[in-house]
Amino acid sequence: MYPKLLWHGDRDRKVVYLTFDDGPVPEATPWVLDRLASHGAQATFFCVGSNADAYPELVERIRAEGHGIGGHTWDHRNGRKEQDRAYFRSVISCQNALATHLFRPPYGRLNRHQMHLLSRRYCIVMWDVLSGDFDARCSPDRCARNVLFHARNGSIVVFHDSVKAWPRLREALPRVLTDLQEQGYSFEALPGSTTDLPDSFQASMPPTRS
Ligand SMILES: [Zn+2]
Repeated sequence: MYPKLLWHGDRDRKVVYLTFDDGPVPEATPWVLDRLASHGAQATFFCVGSNADAYPELVERIRAEGHGIGGHTWDHRNGRKEQDRAYFRSVISCQNALATHLFRPPYGRLNRHQMHLLSRRYCIVMWDVLSGDFDARCSPDRCARNVLFHARNGSIVVFHDSVKAWPRLREALPRVLTDLQEQGYSFEALPGSTTDLPDSFQASMPPTRS
């Protein structure tokens, strides 16, 4: 049996789940939190363990402002390029430090064994919309349009609160927040653990890749 991954939330509610990977960092995360607050928006931050360890005050602020927190490995490892033992150590140390059941694999990459074991313990959160803000060849306008064209009810959208994504994030995020809000969407944090996941959440299979 394939393990289940979460690709999107409830398609019947006008809700979008914004997610921010690779932080927290002082160069981007406080600004993201300010933008979210100005729209009354909640989101989920998939933190790298070493960043969370370096900036505990940012983790505290994320929690204090009602956002969700998930793990993204201790040091941003690619599961497909790692020995399972070393990979699990990186995942588990991050999950434990953040006390979260939500996990997003860096690059979305896991081997089948890793996926199987980790999905027993954590909710593995993927996405159905990528902003592309990590890609320096992508213009900020294109990043915003990537989200605005593809977001729909229950979408899980990927941004990055990182130094690398910052030039695109700073222009794309405000547009996305404003436009989607004008379309009547609200922004919620993902429920914090597998046991918390409402029945309406659909854990679907990964799309088939050619
Ligand atoms: Zn990442």
